[in-house]
Amino acid sequence: MTRKAATGSKLTIATLGSHCSLQVLKGAKDEGFRTLLVCEKRRLGLYSRFGFIDEIVEVGSFTEILGDTCRRRLKQVGSVLIPHGTLISQMKSDEIEKIDTPVFGNKWILRWEADRILKEKLMKEAGLKIPQAVRSKNEIKGLCIVKLHGAAGGRGYYLAWNRESFEEGARRLIDQKIIRAESDLYIQEFIRGVPVYLQYFYSPITEELELLGIDRRYESDIDGIGRIPAKQQLGASSIEPSYTVIGNIPLVLRESLLEEVYKIGENFVRTAERLVPPGMPGPFCLEGVYDSEGKFTTFEFSARIVAGTNLYLDGSPYSGLLYDEPMSMGRRIAREVKVAKKRGKLDKVVT
Ligand code: AMP
Repeated sequence: MTRKAATGSKLTIATLGSHCSLQVLKGAKDEGFRTLLVCEKRRLGLYSRFGFIDEIVEVGSFTEILGDTCRRRLKQVGSVLIPHGTLISQMKSDEIEKIDTPVFGNKWILRWEADRILKEKLMKEAGLKIPQAVRSKNEIKGLCIVKLHGAAGGRGYYLAWNRESFEEGARRLIDQKIIRAESDLYIQEFIRGVPVYLQYFYSPITEELELLGIDRRYESDIDGIGRIPAKQQLGASSIEPSYTVIGNIPLVLRESLLEEVYKIGENFVRTAERLVPPGMPGPFCLEGVYDSEGKFTTFEFSARIVAGTNLYLDGSPYSGLLYDEPMSMGRRIAREVKVAKKRGKLDKVVT
């Protein structure tokens, strides 16, 4: 499905139809790019509603971007592919690394996002305060959160406080065919406080780190449990909170916390440069919990755009401090590609 023909040497911003694709392609269009969406057949109805999508390449499943037809088309129109959470959750790291269309950011760091052990290493080396990882169910002491590997959007996470509660949760996930074995799970100390997602953009062109937005997630059903009074909660013994992301809520931090936000972001960028060249060009997110002392413990990072940035299509309270125009994360990505191309430095922003 094509609305406009490809034009000569002009670049096309391409992405997969899911997650934050509307924001990414709208931002690309605002910056003057051609836009292309790789879209599963079942979602054509949704995405064909939006006039800023110039071309839709229909696929049965997203892994087809590795196939000849899709690759050829992406190449023909000079695509830069913007990776997001759906790419990470639907493709293995090996497959992502094989993509030969230029990928915005550092595709090699996506393996570090998907692998819990590498992820922990990067966060530790960046000097971030992180939750204690619990290596075995026999070592569980105190409240822990049990997670799946990869970008699962909180799906399947559960709380455990001893070996029995861990095994009970694991059994449930095995019965539901969400995991194959207990070894598919990762146990982490549960941090008490409020979850906060810090949305950054690092430009290897200006060598500056920008904080473009902050959000928190709205998760089912942990965020809904407070709506059930204590008496009814106690009566309903089968309540097992889950952490499935349903949406995102905007947030601003106390201004006195911002200096530390920049500091940890910069430490992360410098460490990524050292451990996973070329580092962390483009958008990333540090995800954690502020405790009652205002201390931030980072439990995760995303080494690409996060869906929480969808809140700020018209800019955020933070992007407004840096730009005199509405600057979404999607648009910021497109701006970086534009500036890099103009200065002959495209290789600095894609891998
Ligand atoms: P994630 O998918 O890892 O970003 O986590 C999903 C949700 O689980 C977060 O929004 C938090 O509510 C919660 N969470 C994850 N890790 C921790 C932790 N170590 N301590 C407390 N809550 C956590």
